[in-house]
Amino acid sequence: MSESMPVEISPVYEGERIRKQDMYVELGGPNVEHKCELVLAKPMEEVEDGKISIVGPDLNELKEGSSNPYAVVVEVAGKMVEKDLESVIERRIHDFSNYIEGYMHLNQRYDIWCRISKKAFNKGLNSFKWIGMALAKLYKAEMPFIEKIQITFYTDPEKVKEIYEQALKIYEARDARARGLRDEDVDTFYSCVLCQSFAPQHVCIITPQRVSLCGAINWFDARAAAKVDPKGPIIPVAKGECIDPIRGEYTGANEIVEKRSLGANKRFWLYSCFGYPHTSCGCFDTILFYIPEVDGFGCVDRGFKGPTVNGLPFSTMATQVGGGIQTEGFLGIGMEYYRSAKFMQADGGWNRVVWIASTLRARIEDAIPPHLKDKIATEKEAPDIESLKKFMIERGHPLAKKLLEMEAAAKAEEEKAPAEAAPAAAPGVTISGLPLPAAGGAGGIRITLKGAKIRINQLIIKKEG
Ligand code: SF4
Ligand code: ZN
Repeated sequence: MSESMPVEISPVYEGERIRKQDMYVELGGPNVEHKCELVLAKPMEEVEDGKISIVGPDLNELKEGSSNPYAVVVEVAGKMVEKDLESVIERRIHDFSNYIEGYMHLNQRYDIWCRISKKAFNKGLNSFKWIGMALAKLYKAEMPFIEKIQITFYTDPEKVKEIYEQALKIYEARDARARGLRDEDVDTFYSCVLCQSFAPQHVCIITPQRVSLCGAINWFDARAAAKVDPKGPIIPVAKGECIDPIRGEYTGANEIVEKRSLGANKRFWLYSCFGYPHTSCGCFDTILFYIPEVDGFGCVDRGFKGPTVNGLPFSTMATQVGGGIQTEGFLGIGMEYYRSAKFMQADGGWNRVVWIASTLRARIEDAIPPHLKDKIATEKEAPDIESLKKFMIERGHPLAKKLLEMEAAAKAEEEKAPAEAAPAAAPGVTISGLPLPAAGGAGGIRITLKGAKIRINQLIIKKEG
């Protein structure tokens, strides 16, 4: 690329992770409240092509090892550039940024987390102007419909806060636009494979009522992208025949999933967490996870730091959910999908949700149906499964009756277990040194294994004495 560029710009750096001990500075991320990225479509005369501005301290003025508020605003213009393209252009900040050696970019919208490596800083990546120049060149090369581009980097805390608040309103307006349109109303869905560089089998199917799992691309955005960039990662999907309207299975979506995942996945149930769930890459806003003990769902967002009700934090579950593999009971989903009438429709929708992290709840409170507002626990009321069960029963959650039945059945099972276990063990027999009760006899111990998978390498049964 540019001769004066101090570091390399290439897709080979996409998988680069910068660990804390190797970072020079952190921009955005979990340690700062305000961070965001925003693309705005502007009239031609309002964009000065190639202009890079920095508002606040530049990279070489930030304290080594510090975490800083950060906003990146990209303004674009062109005859074919329309408002509907903003989200799609914005989503590319992620991969283009990751092409820059020594610059790591994670997530999207209001949740970005970037780092500059010490090595790159020492090589000369000491100003945002280099990042701006690289992004501008990549945008022009990969999205030729962009005729003019100017980029502003904000690190001044007050300014970042201002942009952040403005950006939240813009994201909300984009999301709101797709509300009201139903999957039944259109013949075309869209498919995106932008994340295949991280998760090679992953394919997103975007419908009016199912936003992409990164939360950044809705049906309108995808439509605009496919129109302007037909050879790009987002393409139209003829919906085809609806095989199952409740689970959300469509022949056209299945065909494209099979084709674009190179046969790894063949079917998607768009409105279910079971059977053939939509795959997840790694950049999902939130995770929906099945809680077998209560037969309900928990939901957690990336911003939630503690353990969830099942004892696992977001980061641990993210490794189970991601990678483009269909994982029943775990689903990465975009924030806006919680507001959809199709949300987990096949599994009971909101009536199946029993737990939600308070950080996520604060963002989607409006999506929770009124009759469930006081019946869904957060980590404050239910830090673990036992307290969750109690909460559900006390509050009369729609699953409470089933939960009581499950508990009663388990208890009955426990009670009859000794009588059933006895005939299997002859008097005086021990298994692994544990004495089992003799047939019809009293005493001994009772072992109840629920939902367990047992693998035995060696079983020694011997007569006592
Ligand atoms: Fe595209 Fe899906 Fe990745 Fe979003 S999560 S960028 S829609 S593949
Ligand atoms: Zn992704």
